[in-house]
Amino acid sequence: MEIKEHVAQIMHDIQLAVARRRVSSLLMPDVKLIAVTKNQDVPAIRSALAAGITAIGENRVQEALTKYDELKHDTEWHFIGHLQTNKVRQVVPLFQLIHSVDTEKLVVEIDRIAAKEGKLQDVLIQVNVAGEETKSGISRRQALTLAKQVAGLEHVRLRGFMTIAPLFEDAEQTRPIFRELFAIFMEARTLLPHIQLDWLSMGMTNDYLVAIEEGANLVRIGTGIFGKRN
Ligand SMILES: *Cc1c(COP(=O)(O)O)cnc(C)c1O
Repeated sequence: MEIKEHVAQIMHDIQLAVARRRVSSLLMPDVKLIAVTKNQDVPAIRSALAAGITAIGENRVQEALTKYDELKHDTEWHFIGHLQTNKVRQVVPLFQLIHSVDTEKLVVEIDRIAAKEGKLQDVLIQVNVAGEETKSGISRRQALTLAKQVAGLEHVRLRGFMTIAPLFEDAEQTRPIFRELFAIFMEARTLLPHIQLDWLSMGMTNDYLVAIEEGANLVRIGTGIFGKRN
């Protein structure tokens, strides 16, 4: 199959998963499919855009900058990778949503750069729900504390949470992870009623259907769209 068919199939399957949700779609409307374009060349990305993709996700700053210059396409850019404070300067002007805020130090720097750029930067807090040592993300114990800190900043707007589930052979095993992040998300909504928390970024090629069933409305899909990465 080609990129176009992959995108159509995934969009179809997303709708079926939304219908199977245990949470009301009124709580979590608008599932957005983010095409993860790391290691993909510009022609492949153009095919995805032509197939109806409206948001692309990159996890490396330099790679994203190169493609951005070439594409100059009217699309949303999502930063989904681990972000170092010394790269914030390059990331803020380009990306609509940063998914990977996991320390106060990082978000304070984002706030500082956004102020300089005259921008209100949308961010998500990345939570390491499973507590995997190899992954970034704040612990679930500290997630709400960080959420309160982010909510107090002037040039950053907290929009929700993100997680990367461990890779299981059986996607069903990721369900408790996604359910847990949904619970954190709902708790944050109660705790911060004046903040517009509306995005829950969870689910990749292997587990996006389970994630949507558990309330995800941003899914990040790479190999499912483009095939295996080079
Ligand atoms: C690579 C990546 C994805 C996409 O993974 P696939 O399994 O190829 O769909 C999603 N999220 C993040 C943070 C990634 O780094």
